[in-house]
Amino acid sequence: MCRLKVVETFESIQGESSWAGMPCFFIRLAGCNLRCVYCDTPYAYEGGEERSVEELVAAARASRAPIVEITGGEPLLQEGLPALAAALRDGTSKRVLVETNGSLDLARVPPGVVAIVDIKCPGSGESERVLWSNVERLRACDEVKFVISDRADYDWAVDVLRRFALATRCRAVHLSPAADVLGPAVLAGWMLADGLPARLQVQLHKVVGLK
Ligand code: SF4
Repeated sequence: MCRLKVVETFESIQGESSWAGMPCFFIRLAGCNLRCVYCDTPYAYEGGEERSVEELVAAARASRAPIVEITGGEPLLQEGLPALAAALRDGTSKRVLVETNGSLDLARVPPGVVAIVDIKCPGSGESERVLWSNVERLRACDEVKFVISDRADYDWAVDVLRRFALATRCRAVHLSPAADVLGPAVLAGWMLADGLPARLQVQLHKVVGLK
C-alpha cells in the first residue's frame, strides 16, 4: 500500500491560481528541497505523519470542496505523489491541483492533474534551482507563478516570460508580490505599464484571514 508523509490536511479558499477564491481541500506533504527566504511554511520541511493513498482519497471525498490541492513543502519529492494525484483524479469528482516549486521534473504529474509551477526569482535565494526543462513539459492546463520581491525580480520574470512565451504555453501566468515586502499596487503599476500577459495575484486566502 502506497503511503506518504503528510503534515496536515485542511479546507481553505484556494489563493494562488486561476481557481483562487474557490473552496479547496488541501493535502500538505512533508519535505522541501529549497529554503526560500520568504517561506511561510517552514513547519513542512520535515516530519509528517504517514498516511495511505486510500485514507487521503477518503478524506478528500468527505470534503464538499470542489478542488483538492496537493502542496508542501515540495510534493514531487515524495515517491507516492503520482499515485496519490492519480487516485484523487480517479476517485473523486474534484479538480486536482499539484503546487510545485519548479525544481523537480514535472513529468511525474499525471495527465488530467493540473500543475501550478513556481519559477523561483532571484529574490527567493533559490533561482539557481529552477529546472528549465520543465518549461517544455508545461501542458495547456498548467499554470506558472512568480513571487516578486522587488523590481529586479520583476525584470527577471518579464525576461523569462517573454523568452519562453510562457503565456502561450499554459493556462495562466501569475505574478504575486512577496508578502510584506512588495505592495500589490506597485507590482500592478509595473504590469500595467508593460501590458504584461499575466495576472496579478494576491494570496487570497491570507487577504480573507484564512490559512
Ligand atoms: S519551495 Fe515552498 S515550501 Fe519550499 S522553501 Fe520555498 S516557499 Fe518554502
